[in-house]
Amino acid sequence: MFSLKDKITLVTGAGSGIGAAIAATFAQAGGFVFVTDRDEKAGQATVDALRSAGGQGEFLSLDVSSEADCERVATAVKSCFNRLDVLVNNAGIGHVGTMLTTTGADLDRLYAVNVRGVFNVTKVFLPGMVERKSGSIVNIASIGAVVGVKDRLAYVTTKFAIAGMTKALALDHALDGVRANAICPGRVETPFVTGWLKKYPDPEKAYRDACATQAVNRMGKPEEIAAAALYLASDEAGFVTGTEFIIDGGFSAGK
Ligand code: NAP
Repeated sequence: MFSLKDKITLVTGAGSGIGAAIAATFAQAGGFVFVTDRDEKAGQATVDALRSAGGQGEFLSLDVSSEADCERVATAVKSCFNRLDVLVNNAGIGHVGTMLTTTGADLDRLYAVNVRGVFNVTKVFLPGMVERKSGSIVNIASIGAVVGVKDRLAYVTTKFAIAGMTKALALDHALDGVRANAICPGRVETPFVTGWLKKYPDPEKAYRDACATQAVNRMGKPEEIAAAALYLASDEAGFVTGTEFIIDGGFSAGK
């Protein structure tokens, strides 16, 4: 188990799914976790769970698409600890559609959260990391940041942007002691995925099809993504920056 002892960490979108699992894993590894989400009830439930398991954390309300929220959260973190060691940009939203069935408004909505959100949160915490010459930024992208995914035009567009932003950030700040990496999961069983599967005419078939897109014929578990986030956040990953860590059960390995 990699250790985050004495590390101050923050996870966005940590009220559900992958973000909640990352928060729990980081707390188990000894880190203090700022659990952030736009959904206060869900975020507080994540904090309650990690505290019940003996971890330390606090909830801060944060809509990543709001620059004002990001400033407020950065001030709150500064007043508690005066530093942030690990930032996980996990909050993200999806949209099902091709170029023909995606509107400009759909693309803007995804861009505001998936791209501007990562930009906004990173912007308020990076200066402190650079000043202290230490920091790890983990961006939760998607396998749709590595290969195209059918019927996900806007989502894939924003996730490729995250992969690019991660690489640029890593290069710009490698000599400042700040690492930046992206995790690219295949389908992971979370409310994000189960929500859209329920909208299909035959949800059980849609579930089986979603499992079958992975060579291992199942979806990933949030904890399997959290384990990779823990590694990338830890000092053991000191030589890892600017990379895309694919965790996709063989989704992208080929047919
Ligand atoms: P999830 O279960 O829907 O959890 C995402 C959380 O982020 C929710 O609590 C959501 O709140 C919150 N959120 C959404 N927009 C936000 C905003 N503007 N500011 C702050 N919080 C916001 O999704 P997940 O499956 O865990 O996905 C987490 C990340 O992994 C996303 O970036 C997603 O693209 C990526 N990913 C997921 C999969 C997968 O198969 N699950 C695969 C590859 C990548 P609301 O409930 O209010 O929306």
